[in-house]
Amino acid sequence: MQYIELIYIVSTVLLIIGLRKLSSPSTARNGNVLAALGMGSAILVAIFSPMTDDHGNLLYIFAGILAGAVIGLIYSKKVEMTGIPELVSIFNGFGGACAVSISILEAYKFNSSSTLGLMTTTYMALFIGGVAFTGSLIAYGKLAGKVKDWRSKVSSYFNLIWLMACIGLIIFQVINPMTYTFLPLVILTVSLIYGLTFVWPIGGADMPVVISLLNALTGIAAALAGIVYGNMVMILGGVLVGSSGAILTVLMCKAMNRSLINVVVGGFGASSSAISADQGDIKETTANDTAIMMRYAQNVMVIPGYGMAVAQAQKACKELDKSLSSRGVNVNYAIHPVAGRMPGHMNVLLAEADVPYSKLIDLDDANGMLTDTDVCLVVGANDVVNPSALDDPGSPIYGMPVLEILNSKNVVVLKRSMNKGYSGIENPLFFHDKTKMLFGDAKDTIESLNNEVKVMD
Ligand code: NDP
Repeated sequence: MQYIELIYIVSTVLLIIGLRKLSSPSTARNGNVLAALGMGSAILVAIFSPMTDDHGNLLYIFAGILAGAVIGLIYSKKVEMTGIPELVSIFNGFGGACAVSISILEAYKFNSSSTLGLMTTTYMALFIGGVAFTGSLIAYGKLAGKVKDWRSKVSSYFNLIWLMACIGLIIFQVINPMTYTFLPLVILTVSLIYGLTFVWPIGGADMPVVISLLNALTGIAAALAGIVYGNMVMILGGVLVGSSGAILTVLMCKAMNRSLINVVVGGFGASSSAISADQGDIKETTANDTAIMMRYAQNVMVIPGYGMAVAQAQKACKELDKSLSSRGVNVNYAIHPVAGRMPGHMNVLLAEADVPYSKLIDLDDANGMLTDTDVCLVVGANDVVNPSALDDPGSPIYGMPVLEILNSKNVVVLKRSMNKGYSGIENPLFFHDKTKMLFGDAKDTIESLNNEVKVMD
């Protein structure tokens, strides 16, 4: 039996090292492979462990693994870079569904000798897994544009009632385990509904927080299910996912200036189309003028956002960077933690284009460098450079840390139209004296800029 424990420890170590390596783009790929190896070996040991009763289920188990692996492989090969957050959401939802399946089966095995601890753990796994499952499906639908925001003034109260109902039912069921056999199914149903009503009203700029919170919930549900089965790797894997998701949630809350309690209660920070008052005129510029300004600048800061991902403009950025750098211009990239549609979105795209990591500057450091920046080139970013977050207490994003690009000498914004960003609010930056708009698809525009720069000395 000892070799099983040993392989479990090796799997756990692989998961921990894998997670650690995910913290830098340069090691993330290896980290993923190591974590996958850890998970794979843990699954195999769990299946073939002499402690597991076979019951002739091996065929079903491998058929399930094969089907899941094929679907996962096809889906992840097909998915566009911009679709990764949706993919993460749906994978997360399936993690919650696993915890639900395990715990509902176990709940129906309880008898009069089942301990209070085991029952509480199982029902908590059922509840948390259920919320993570439907919540992640709604998050997937929202990110994919298939589910519209829905919210009413009473959503938060409604959510609190569902939450209280679920906790009350779990307490009742644990105290009176054998009284009503249908109660585990009622707990499951209420959890699934709470997951829906919890995520549905949340829109706009709060979505990243919700996704990482759901991730944390799935980890906790998996850890609880691991306790039910007494499986060490499941517990540790769940704890790692749960704690890293929780840390990310807290960091995201800070980055978006939202309190965690409001996110937990739900119905908070929905999109707003506020500030539609006349903002003044915009100033358009040309690729030629912008190229001249950048070529004769000392410091240029590229501000990538979701539009860079849509346009797939990262390689074009790198080429423009090369042309400018070879002419003595110092080019860096200011990375906002929630730019794009997933944490680290901009880092991944720029790493794919071989932009050196040393050029990717975090929000705080970038804000410190902006006063010495001659030109800020905004590539499809909008919410993360919205100055209302700094100076408009009436704005839904007031207080969210943003890149303070108006501290630089010149701002050029690349986008296709005057469309709003993800949070659906107006951006006064576009109407500011310092700002010039260069309309068009970001990739085409950057290629034109590069062509102009290349013919200069
Ligand atoms: P935004 O969504 O605020 O704005 C993106 C801008 O890109 C739009 O205004 C759009 O304008 C422009 N754009 C789109 N396609 C192109 C194109 N082909 N070429 C040029 N421009 C284009 O992006 P930000 O990165 O500034 O902010 C991210 C937002 O997403 C934040 O509100 C954040 O909270 C939210 N979010 C972030 C997540 C994360 O984890 N990072 C997850 C989920 C949401 P136009 O149509 O006129 O071209």
